[in-house]
Amino acid sequence: MEIIERIEHWGKMTPDRAAFISGGRTLTYGELCHRSSALAAHLAGTLPEKSPVVVLGHKEPELLIAYLAAIKSGRAYVPVDTAVPPQRIERIVAASGAALTLSPEQVAGLADGREPGPRRRLETDDHYYIMFTSGSTGEPKGVPITYGCLQSFLEWILAEHAFEEGQEVFLNVVPYSFDVSLMDTYPALVTGGTVTSVTRDEIASPRQLYQLLGRSALTTWVSTPSFAQMCLVEPAFKRELLPRLRRFLFCGETLAPEVASQLLDRFPDAEVWNTYGPTEATVATTSIRITRDLLNRYSPLPIGYPMPGTRVLVMDEQGREVPAGERGEIIISGPNVSPGYLNRPDLIEQVFFRLDGRRAYRTGDWGRYRDGMLFFEGRMDNQVKLHGYRIELADVEANLRALPGVRDAVVLPVLRQGVVDSLAAFVILNERPPRPDFQLAAELKLQLTERLPAYMIPRKFTFLESFLMNVNGKADRRKLAEALT
Ligand code: AMP
Repeated sequence: MEIIERIEHWGKMTPDRAAFISGGRTLTYGELCHRSSALAAHLAGTLPEKSPVVVLGHKEPELLIAYLAAIKSGRAYVPVDTAVPPQRIERIVAASGAALTLSPEQVAGLADGREPGPRRRLETDDHYYIMFTSGSTGEPKGVPITYGCLQSFLEWILAEHAFEEGQEVFLNVVPYSFDVSLMDTYPALVTGGTVTSVTRDEIASPRQLYQLLGRSALTTWVSTPSFAQMCLVEPAFKRELLPRLRRFLFCGETLAPEVASQLLDRFPDAEVWNTYGPTEATVATTSIRITRDLLNRYSPLPIGYPMPGTRVLVMDEQGREVPAGERGEIIISGPNVSPGYLNRPDLIEQVFFRLDGRRAYRTGDWGRYRDGMLFFEGRMDNQVKLHGYRIELADVEANLRALPGVRDAVVLPVLRQGVVDSLAAFVILNERPPRPDFQLAAELKLQLTERLPAYMIPRKFTFLESFLMNVNGKADRRKLAEALT
């Protein structure tokens, strides 16, 4: 599927239709196509061939213009949300090798009044976007996704759902630096639909949020389960609020049976889908429609069946496929697997490999096939999901240790009903200043805001003189976890 051609088609056929609505502003298909071509001409004329562009913002219409402009000028884009603090952004820019960082204001200035130039085309193996995700060394790691990866994902998702051309309205709630956003924006744009985006501020104000939802005429809901769970607190969140809604597509974290069940009750006209997959394998790789029958039979819920053309295996430590019913690591192999972390051969070697001649990725997720369906059974390492955000606990620890006065730190998830609710830090200081703990904690949190996005900052801090060691001479995380229960 030629992604840009399909979007351009709508630019010609329906130039006045809304492609993207956000923060009270509407971007039409005509504007999106014309302005991205104009910006592409500028990028092609000023930047080294194929050098990626960082696009920094939060759901402004200009972000979409910049993404398409990058692609039309034959280069990848690196979406970064403004929730990321400047220090971390600098590290992402450096690691990406980008020659330019574009803000919405710059996009507006550069795209205005310019003439579109000739378009470059991406090859299957060219990078389409580079998503930065939490890395265990404290440095964010770049996951390049090729044009071929994105095409295979889109072909699958379009084949799986009967999206009506020109009729769909998709919800975008996750930031563009999180790849679940691709599940709403690209299916919308290639089918001539509209993306209705909800900003951070609108999410923070329930009144605004429900007003916006009520006006949205949504047909397709895309979010993490956490977001839907939050909406379910509002009794008015039901069919009458979203009468056109036909499907909920969930990705990024466990879909609790209660959430699926309540949604089926409150939205009798809508399907509920659970999809699973890591950023390294392009948004999602398995899916299943959650029916009443499935809810009656399974808890936890299955994550479903692999997309066609992709193999999803469960392997033991020796790399042998385990029989159905047994637990092992989930391995993904196929055209949707990234070629491997950007400029990090050390990390690539740990998790990427070749299987039957195709790219393969070790997810670090425990899984098991039962009744022909895949089930997710937790992480094998210290990566957690907090409200859908992927966090390496070691990333938070490394950033804590980098603060002046901090000798050592351990960060653990705080669970509520088995789900990560927040993070807790155990900290050893070089010297204990004569101030109360709550004040020391506030100081460390403030310093961390310069290094980490808010969702990665531990809520609770405990100051210790030393950590108990386990037999391997490492801080005994299990003992520390007991202090949290
Ligand atoms: P991310 O790269 O941010 O999309 O995070 C990928 C990880 O999120 C996976 O490796 C899983 O650990 C988890 N995950 C994604 N989707 C699901 C799902 N439907 N159910 C349970 N865990 C999920």
